[in-house]
Amino acid sequence: MTTNTPATLTTRQELAPAAARLRCDHRFPVQPPHGSLSYPGPCQHCGVPHAASSPVADQLREPLAAWLEKAAKSFDDETYEDAIECPSCGDGCHEDHGTMRVHSFCGRTIGADAERCACFDEALAVARAVNGGAS
Ligand SMILES: [Zn+2]
Ligand SMILES: [Zn+2]
Ligand SMILES: [Zn+2]
Repeated sequence: MTTNTPATLTTRQELAPAAARLRCDHRFPVQPPHGSLSYPGPCQHCGVPHAASSPVADQLREPLAAWLEKAAKSFDDETYEDAIECPSCGDGCHEDHGTMRVHSFCGRTIGADAERCACFDEALAVARAVNGGAS
């Protein structure tokens, strides 16, 4: 497994569920064993924790969901897997150095530490707040 893979998957896997969660008609269980009136359990439909469910005003849910869906679609359309360039093995290297995901729009790598693509950072930050730690 390369170091790029988890970040790549994370970006894509956080955007779409966040859009669905914004549209979810949340239902938090208040009956044991799933929760109680003072500490409701996670949403029965989408799994978002109760504490993370309130930051978005109702009138912002749909526009934000549409925006996140667009970001997820851009991610699908504009990024591609590319072979990682051989670091220093020299000519005749037949080693598989794995792949990375590249964003064609900026030419940068998704999830790499240095010189990484930051195009999806805002959407990802919103998605993370919406997801509230649920996966
Ligand atoms: Zn829900
Ligand atoms: Zn090599
Ligand atoms: Zn980018």
